[in-house]
Amino acid sequence: MPEFITLTGARENNLKDVTLRIPKGRLTVFTGVSGSGKSSVVFDTIAVESQRQLNETFTWFVRNRLPKYERPHADAMEDLTPAIVVDQRPVGGHSRSTVGTMTDIHSVMRVLFSRHGTPSAGPATAYSFNDPAGMCPKCDGLGRTVRPDWDGILDPGRSLAAGAVRFPPFAAGTWQGQAYTNTDELDPDKPVGEFTAAEREFLMHGRPGSKVTVKAAGGTWTTEYEGLADRFERLYLKRDLSAMSQKTRDLVREFLAEGSCPACAGARLNQAALASRINGRTIADCAHLQVSDLIDVLKEIDDPVARPIARAAVAALERVDAIGLGYLSLDRETATLSGGEGQRLKTVRHLGSSLTGMTYIFDEPSVGLHPRDVGRLGDLLLRLRDKGNTVLVVEHDPDVIALADHVVDMGPGAGTEGGRVVFEGTPVELAGSATLTGRCLRRRTTLKDEVRTATGGLWVKGAGRHNLRDVTVEFPTGVLTVVTGVAGSGKSTLVAEFTAAHPGAVVVDQSAIGISARSTPATYVGMMDTVRRIFARETGTEPGLFSFNSTGACGGCEGRGVILTDLAFMDPVTTTCHDCEGRRFRDEVLRLTVGGHSIADVLEMTAEQALGFFDDLGVRRRLRALRDVGLTYLTLGQPLSTLSGGERQRIKLATRLHRTGAVYVLDEPTTGLHMSDVEGLLALLDRLVDAGNTVVVVEHNLDVVAHADRIVDLGPDGGRDGGRVIFEGTPRGLLAARGSSTAEHLRRATA
Ligand code: ADP
Ligand code: ADP
Ligand code: ZN
Ligand code: ZN
Repeated sequence: MPEFITLTGARENNLKDVTLRIPKGRLTVFTGVSGSGKSSVVFDTIAVESQRQLNETFTWFVRNRLPKYERPHADAMEDLTPAIVVDQRPVGGHSRSTVGTMTDIHSVMRVLFSRHGTPSAGPATAYSFNDPAGMCPKCDGLGRTVRPDWDGILDPGRSLAAGAVRFPPFAAGTWQGQAYTNTDELDPDKPVGEFTAAEREFLMHGRPGSKVTVKAAGGTWTTEYEGLADRFERLYLKRDLSAMSQKTRDLVREFLAEGSCPACAGARLNQAALASRINGRTIADCAHLQVSDLIDVLKEIDDPVARPIARAAVAALERVDAIGLGYLSLDRETATLSGGEGQRLKTVRHLGSSLTGMTYIFDEPSVGLHPRDVGRLGDLLLRLRDKGNTVLVVEHDPDVIALADHVVDMGPGAGTEGGRVVFEGTPVELAGSATLTGRCLRRRTTLKDEVRTATGGLWVKGAGRHNLRDVTVEFPTGVLTVVTGVAGSGKSTLVAEFTAAHPGAVVVDQSAIGISARSTPATYVGMMDTVRRIFARETGTEPGLFSFNSTGACGGCEGRGVILTDLAFMDPVTTTCHDCEGRRFRDEVLRLTVGGHSIADVLEMTAEQALGFFDDLGVRRRLRALRDVGLTYLTLGQPLSTLSGGERQRIKLATRLHRTGAVYVLDEPTTGLHMSDVEGLLALLDRLVDAGNTVVVVEHNLDVVAHADRIVDLGPDGGRDGGRVIFEGTPRGLLAARGSSTAEHLRRATA
C-alpha cells in the first residue's frame, strides 16, 4: 500500500502547479486565507478525481447511469482512496426527515417498540410516520396541518358588502367575491360576526344544489355556489404550491395558520402506534426527549429480549451526544438544523459505519462550535482516522489545527495572489513558521478595554421559546454586542426573538441567496447594468448583447457557462459548456472589446482587478463594498452558487452597508475567515458601529468576543441545561465570571 496520496501539477481554479504528498491514515488540515485555494485542492481536485476514478471502475452499463465528472486540471493524481465529503450543505429540507430518520436511530426505535411495546401495534412499519401503516391519517405523518386562518380571512365586525372577506381574491367587488354578496341566502349588510350557525355554515360550505348569479366581463352567469372554506381549500390547499406563482404563494401564506395536527397532537403516528408503550412512554414521547435524556430512559429497559435492541439504540445515541448534539431530540426536523449541526450529524452516520481506507473530507467542521465543543469534534476526527481512514479538513480554528498530524498552508494571498503551498509540516512547525498562518498562531487575543457607551437600549422581555427560560435582556444601541454560549445554549433562538421584537433589524445570514443560476457577484451588487452600458457605448452596440440573460448569451448553455444535470438522489452535476467553453457569450459578442477586454474577460476579473479597470464611480463604489467585506478575490462572474456560507453572508453585507441608525444582526460572521481576515472583519464592524448603527453578532471566535462592547453569554450548557443568561457585561467583566465556559476559554486565550 502506498503511504501517500500524490498530486502533481494541480491547476484547478487559482492553483499554480501544486504538487503535494498527503499522508494516508492521517489527519491533514488545510489552512490559508479565504480564496487561497484550500477548497480547490481538497474539493475540486482530490474529491472530484477520486469520485471520477471510482466511477471508472464500474461497468459501462452502470457508468452511463452515474454523474459524469470532468477530470480536474492536474498532471497526475495517484493513489487516491474513495472520498466521502461531509459538508455543511443543509440536510434534506423536507419535513419527513428528522434527526431520528437521518441517523437511522428511528428505525432501531421502531424495531424496539414492535418487539417490546405493549400492546404491540404490529411489525416495525406500524411505528413509522413515513409509512401508511404507521402514519397519522389526518396529517399523513407530518405532525402538522395547515389550515386557513379564518381570524385573518374574515373580519367579524364587517358585513360581506363592507369587506368582511379580507383575502383579496375573494374580496367584495371581485368576480369571485360576488358569490358571497349576491347570494339570496345571506344578508350582505349583516356583520359576519352576527351570523347564525346556519348562515355561517352556508357561507363556508354552501348546500348541494344552491346557485348564485355573478356578473363577469362576458355577461351574467348563474353558477353553482361554492362555500368560502371549500373554495379556499380547493384552489389553494389541495393544489401543488409549486404550481402557483411566487406572488400567489406569498399571498396565500399570509392567510394560512399552521398548527399541531388535531388528531395526533404533532406525534405524526396513528392511534395504534401511539397506544403502544414501553415503561409508560410511547415512541413519540421517546422521540421528543433530548438525546442525552433518552439514553437514560433506554438504559432502564431490563427485559432480556428488548435489551440488545435498546443497547444498539443507546450506542448510536451516545455517538450523537459525544459530538455535542445531546441537546437535540430525534423528532427534530433536519430542515431546522444549522449547517454545523447538520455536518456533525452526518459524521455520526460515518462513525457508525465499518468502512475503512476511505478519505473523509470536512469543510470547516468547527462552525457553530464553542471552543469548549471543539475538543469533542477533535475526538471525532481522530476516531475516524484511527479506524484507518485519511481525514482531510479545511479549517481556521487554532484548536483543530493543533490536532493535525500534518498541515498544508495555502497562500500567500487570495485568488491570483494565492494558489501555492507555502508551508507543509506539523502544527508546531507551522506555529514557528513565517507564513501568515504561522504568525497568527503566535498572536494572543487582546481584550478591549475602552468600550463604547450605549446610546439607548432594545429589549427582549420574557422570552421562552425553545429552551429559553423567561429571558429578559437588553441589547444596548450604538455598540457592538456579541452573543456567546456553547452549542444549543439558545443563542440563535434569542437573536431570532430579538429580530422578531425589532422588525427593522437588518439580518445578514448565511442562507442561500435565492436568485437564478446565472447570478454572480457582479449582478448581485448591481453593477452589471452600468458595465453593459459602458460596453454598448464604447462598441456602438446594444447593452442587451452583454447580458447572459438575453440575446448575447451562448445558445448551448443559455448563458450559464455550464450544463447542469439533475440527478434524483444525488447532487446535480455541472459540466462546462462545449459551445462557449464556459465563457457564456456568443463569439460575436466576445469579439467586442473595451480596453482590449471582452465582457467575458471582465467577468473573469477579480473585484480587485476590476478596481484597476473601471473609472465609473458607481461601479467603483460597488467594488469597494466587496473589498470592505474582504471579498476582493472573487471573480465578477463566479456563480453565486459556488460561494460558501460565510462568503454568502459577506456579499449580502456588502449590499447592505452605508446605513446609519440601523440594527445589524449577524450569525457567526467569521465563518470561513482566516485568523488574519478576522481583523478586517472587526474593522468593518467598528465602522458600522461608528457610523451610528447597532451591531449584534452571534460568535465563538475569541478575538471577536474580546472586541465586544457588550457580551451576552448564554448557558450554562445546551438544550434543557441552557437557556439562561449567565453573564452580561464587558469583556473584562467576563474574564472574572465563574461558571461560564466562554469566560474560561477567554482567560486561556488572553493569558
Ligand atoms: P479557499 O478554499 O482557500 O477559500 P478556493 O479554493 O475556494 O479558496 O478558491 C481559490 C480561488 O479560486 C479563489 O480566487 C476563488 O474565487 C476561485 N474559485 C473557487 N471556486 C471557483 C469556481 N467554481 N469558479 C471560478 N473560480 C472559483
Ligand atoms: P445555539 O444557537 O446556542 O446553538 P439554539 O438557539 O439553536 O442554540 O438552540 C437552543 C435550543 O432550542 C436547543 O435545545 C435546540 O435543540 C432547540 N431548538 C432550536 N431550534 C429549534 C427548532 N426549530 N425546533 C425545535 N427546537 C429547536
Ligand atoms: Zn396527525
Ligand atoms: Zn455555453
